Amino acid sequence: MAFIDRGARSFLLWELLSGMALSFSYMFKKPVTVNYPYEKGPLSPRFRGEHALRRYANGEERCIACKLCEAVCPALAITIEAEPRDDGSRRTTRYDIDMTKCIYCGLCQEACPVDAIVEGPNFEFATETREELFYNKEKLLSNGDRWEYEIAQNLLADAPYR
Ligand code: SF4
Ligand code: SF4
Repeated sequence: MAFIDRGARSFLLWELLSGMALSFSYMFKKPVTVNYPYEKGPLSPRFRGEHALRRYANGEERCIACKLCEAVCPALAITIEAEPRDDGSRRTTRYDIDMTKCIYCGLCQEACPVDAIVEGPNFEFATETREELFYNKEKLLSNGDRWEYEIAQNLLADAPYR
């Protein structure tokens, strides 16, 4: 009987027709895919994307060069050098992140006492060369300037749970 059953299925192209019927049934359902990059899925406020260094509203850098982020980074991806300014405040003269080493653990953000280093919502920063992923202070500050609104909104949304 099994032989006849298999033969009948082959003769009638049963698998092919049932597969086409299944495909056809999905034509009228709402798509579960998004048309990236024109459409994007929702991101959690806790999403850990590209790093950014933030400023205060008056333009002053938040970072006080305490080096906690450098100390906590398990990948040794952060390098900081610092000097006191003429006004006695302490600021970084060098703030580098080797993004090829970073494992996006978020510990640098957690350690920062002034919310200076953060992982922003940007995930579209693929590059063609390794060198482009060696971020310096200028690049990190420009990321902060670019994403400040979204970063501030995300920190605000997450604040009740911290
Ligand atoms: S996210 Fe983690 S690995 Fe990346 S720089 Fe921060 S502490 Fe280091
Ligand atoms: S980014 Fe934050 S944790 Fe890192 S050195 Fe600056 S103030 Fe300290």
